[in-house]
Order: sequence, then C-alpha cells, then structure tokens
Amino acid sequence: MSEVIATNQTILVVGGGISGLTAALEAAECGKQVVLLEKSPSVGGRVSQLYKYFPKLCFPTCGLEIQLRRLRANKNVRLITMAEVTGISGDEGNYEVTAKVAPRFVNENCTACGECASVVEAEFDDEFNYGLTKRKGAYLTSPMAYPQRYVLDPGIIGTADADKAKEVCKYGAVDLEMGEQELKLNVGAVIWATGWKPYDAAKIQPYGYDRFANVVTNVEFERMLDPFGPTGGKIQRPSDGEAPKNIAFIQCAGSRDRNHLKHCSRICCMASLKQTTYVREQFGDDAKSTIYYIDIRAIDRIDDFYQKVQADENVSFVKSKVANIVENKANGNLILNGVDTEGYNRYASEHDLVVLATGMESTVPGGVFPEGMVINEHGFIDQDPANGGIFGAGCSSDALDVNRATQNATAAALRAIQVVNRVAGMEG
Ligand SMILES: Cc1cc2nc3c(=O)[nH]c(=O)nc-3n(C[C@H](O)[C@H](O)[C@H](O)COP(=O)(O)OP(=O)(O)OC[C@H]3O[C@@H](n4cnc5c(N)ncnc54)[C@H](O)[C@@H]3O)c2cc1C
Repeated sequence: MSEVIATNQTILVVGGGISGLTAALEAAECGKQVVLLEKSPSVGGRVSQLYKYFPKLCFPTCGLEIQLRRLRANKNVRLITMAEVTGISGDEGNYEVTAKVAPRFVNENCTACGECASVVEAEFDDEFNYGLTKRKGAYLTSPMAYPQRYVLDPGIIGTADADKAKEVCKYGAVDLEMGEQELKLNVGAVIWATGWKPYDAAKIQPYGYDRFANVVTNVEFERMLDPFGPTGGKIQRPSDGEAPKNIAFIQCAGSRDRNHLKHCSRICCMASLKQTTYVREQFGDDAKSTIYYIDIRAIDRIDDFYQKVQADENVSFVKSKVANIVENKANGNLILNGVDTEGYNRYASEHDLVVLATGMESTVPGGVFPEGMVINEHGFIDQDPANGGIFGAGCSSDALDVNRATQNATAAALRAIQVVNRVAGMEG
C-alpha cells in the first residue's frame, strides 16, 4: 500500500468534472492543499462531452480551458486520475480514505504523439461517445483530454498489441508492468463531486430505445453534433445515415416518474430547447423539431432562451407525455402515440428521429461513506450537519446546470476550508 502525502489539513475532492475542478481550484487558490481523485483517465466530466452549452452556447473548451489553465498553474492541487475511493472512515477534521488507482500503462514521458494508437489493432467501445463508436486499445479519451497522456486498455495487456505499443514508443512511456495501486489518505474534509450519469433509456420500455434504431438519447445527440464525434458533426439517423427532417424531442423520459427517477432533472427542458438550435444551425428551414412536454421548466435568465426557441416557426410544442412509440418498419420512422392535453386530442405522429430527454441519475455510491451519512431518496448528498466534513458538490448534491453546479461547488469548497481551518486552529 502506498501513502499519498496528505494531512488532516488537506481537502480531498472526489470527481474531476466541472464541479470537482471548481471546488479543488477554489480551495487551492485560498492556499489549501488539495488532492483531486478522478475515476477516468482525464478530467472534465460530462461537460466535455457536450457539443455546446447554454446559456451562451459556447463550446465546452471555453469553460473547461479556464479551469485547466488554473489547474496547471496551481501547485496546491495534486491530481490523480483513474482513481476511485473505496472507503472513508473517521470524523470531521480527521478522515482516513482508501482508494484504488487503475494502471494507465503509460507514464509521464508520454508526449501524446499517438504512435502507440497507430500500431494497436484491437478496438473497444468508446465511452466518450457513449459507445456509438469504437476506439483503439491505446487511446486519448478525447482531443482535449487533460492530462494529454495516452492510456492502454487493460484488454490488450498480454497481447501482441501491447508489445507493439511498447516497441513503437520512442519516449519509453509505455510501461506494461504497471499494476493497480492502493492509496491511503488522511484528510480533514472531503468534497464529493462524482456527478451524474444518464438514466438508462432501455428501462423506459414503451419508448423502444433498445429496439428502434432511430430512437436516441439527448447525450448521444450531443455527441452526434461534435465535429470529433461519431458522425463527424452531422445529425444522422442511425438506421440509414440519412439526415432527419422531422425530429421529436420527448421530455421527462424517465424523470418525474415513480417507475424511474422521481426527481425532475431540471436540465432536460433546456437541453432539448438547446438541441433544437442545433437542428436549425444544421438544416436551416429544412427540418422541423417538435418538443413533447409535460411542462417546460426553464428558469431564470434561461427563460429568455425558451422565448427565442418558441419564436422559431420550425419548432413546435405538444403538451403531452408520449404514451408509447411504434416503429414504421417500412422506413424506420417512429410513430408517437399519446393525448395532447391542451385539446385532449389523440395523436399518432410520425417522426424520422426521436431524441429522448433522459434524466440525470446520481452516481453517489453506497458503502463508501461513514455510517450516518445523509443521502436523500434521489441519491444526492444533502447538506446536513450529520455529514460532518463531507460535502456534496455540483451534481452529487442535485441535478444542476453548469452555472449552479459551479456555484454549489464553490460553496462546498468554502465549507471544507472552514473545516480544515478549524483543524489548523486546534493544532496551533
Ligand atoms: C443532455 C444534457 C445536456 C446538457 N447541457 C447543458 C448545457 O448546455 N449547459 C449547462 O449548464 N448544463 C448542461 N447540462 C448539465 C451538465 O452536464 C452538468 O451541469 C455538469 O455535467 C455537472 O458537472 P459535475 O462536475 O457536477 O458532474 P460530471 O460532469 O458528471 O462530472 C463528474 C466527474 O466525476 C468523475 N467520477 C464519477 N464517479 C467517480 C468516482 N467514483 N470516483 C472518482 N471520480 C468519479 C467522472 O468521471 C466525472 O469526471 C446538460 C446535461 C444533459 C443531460
């Protein structure tokens, strides 16, 4: 077991998405020592998988780049990627944390030249593209990955591919002897920022995500638009690669539903409104978007965005929870059945692509925290005195947009700073 240098005046941040990065940087820039653990090979979280983000519709590179620049400049943050917490015990001001770090099989000599990927043949589902494409067994998670360091998939270790990757690397960066490491950290406070995952659309059986090729999810749609994504930035029907001209967006797909996620994911309305702007950007007047909704939850300044989309005559709104989807076998189109609750008219409307606005599910794990930790019925960490020096941040505390997630992360950083300051005060 190897020990990471940390003391009970150190703040541990778990999760390197926009919230974890923000919390880590806010604390570090106040002079605190921070250890940042990220499960995947690079930081950035799900924001880095978006095409653009509201309200300004900037590319993720803009917001994340600022955080990455701050991260590179700050010696108080120690980033450890491919790391997952396995247990936390102790009390506010004195926690013992165990974590495991998966081997990357590539060391710090890597210059991200990509030679290893060019010789490796084996391919695996690309997590960054939600499995819509394959990636090589030697890969960078995304073009903007930080750290810019390749990873070897454990699936190629012991194969000729791994040997070829090692041989071709002129920097001696491929290290096939790397193994899983265990870490033990003593820290004063913990900020939990492991974010969210998309609700499994296959569980919403009436919508046929697992049966109909042209039913996709909102996160897949984001990837489709990305010039580096699975379709090179083109909106396409998965069944035949044709450009869709009549797209349906179904709200509350698995949210606000006692059979699935009870909570409102809050983002999905804005995400679909935003995605209709992608349709307009790509097809102009040649494609129509229809949003099927229970009620549109667009809040604060974001309401202006809603009004702009409403003014677009190529976007229509149907107030209805879609009951089910049937596939038109002749052309792969989808027929949406339901009742329009404004006129109480039944409809059976045909679309050539359906985007499910699937909700955000918490990734706060069970079995890791000390006993008595308050996690609410939706799986999010409540702000509760019983949680001592462990604080949820960003989407570990609720389904939040980037603006709210970063505000919430800053608040968590402040609370953690108060904890370690108290420890410092007691220890003189
Ligand atoms: C379709 C869609 C579109 C959206 N579009 C917008 C938009 O346009 N504008 C906007 O403001 N918001 C948007 N959002 C919301 C936005 O994605 C979230 O606000 C943002 O991702 C929250 O960041 P986070 O850091 O809290 O979580 P995440 O982005 O989920 O980051 C969590 C990080 O923690 C890591 N992690 C997970 N588990 C562990 C673990 N056990 N140990 C260590 N690390 C772990 C993950 O790898 C990840 O890096 C959208 C959401 C959806 C569903």
